[in-house]
Amino acid sequence: WFALAAICATSVTFPLALIFQRERLKLAQAMQQLEKAHVELANRARMDLLTGLLNREAFLSRIRRFQERKTSGAMLMVDLDHFKQINDTYGHQAGDEALKLVSKAILEATRDEDIVGRIGGEEFGIFVPGESIQLARVIAERVRLSIAQIEFNPEPGSKIDITASIGVAQGSWSIQLSELFRRADDGMYDAKNSGRNRVMVHKAA
Ligand code: GH3
Ligand code: MG
Ligand code: MG
Repeated sequence: WFALAAICATSVTFPLALIFQRERLKLAQAMQQLEKAHVELANRARMDLLTGLLNREAFLSRIRRFQERKTSGAMLMVDLDHFKQINDTYGHQAGDEALKLVSKAILEATRDEDIVGRIGGEEFGIFVPGESIQLARVIAERVRLSIAQIEFNPEPGSKIDITASIGVAQGSWSIQLSELFRRADDGMYDAKNSGRNRVMVHKAA
C-alpha cells in the first residue's frame, strides 16, 4: 500500500513540480518585460516623441538639478525662422521632417554636457553649463550654422533653406529659471528684429 502511495505521490508531484517550475519561469519573464516597459514609459515621458529630444518639463527639471548643485549656465533659445511657410507650402508632414533634421543639427553642434530640449512647436532650448558667455556664444553660433547647412528637399528639385534666430542669456545658478528664459527670449526677439538667422546675446548677460 505504501509502495502504491509512494508511486502515486511521485507520479503526481513530479509533473506538478515541472508545471510550477515552468509557471515560475513565465512569471519571471513577464516581470522582466514589465520592468522593461516601465523603463521605456519613464523615458518616453521625458522625451519629445517627434524629435527624441527632452520635452519641456524634462528640460526644465534637468536645468533645476544643475542649479541645485550651484551650477551656473547660459540659456540658448532657438526659434526657427518663417517656419509656418514650410508647413503652408509643403504640408505639416514636411514641417515635421524639418523639425527632425533641426534637432539632429542641434545635437551635432552641441556637446554631451549641454542640455537640449524641444520646448515648444518650433522652439528649442539649450542649456550650456558654466560661467562663460563667450563659450555660450560660440555654441550658439555653431548651432546657427549647423541649422543653416541642413539639406532639406521636401520635393524633388526644391531645396529649402532652414534658419533660426537664437537668443543667449547667461545667468548665475541662483537666477529664477523663468527670468533666464525671459532674457533668452528677449535676445531671440532681438535676433528676429535684426533680420533673423543670427545670434543675439541679452544685454544683461
Ligand atoms: P518667425 O520667423 O517669426 O518665428 O516665423 P514663424 O513662421 O516661425 O512663426 P510662427 O510662430 O508664426 O509659426 C510657427 C509655426 O510652427 C506655426 C506652426 O504651424 C508650426 N509648428 C509648430 N509646431 C509644429 C510641429 O510640431 N510640426 C509642424 N510641422 N509645424 C509646427
Ligand atoms: Mg516660435
Ligand atoms: Mg518661428
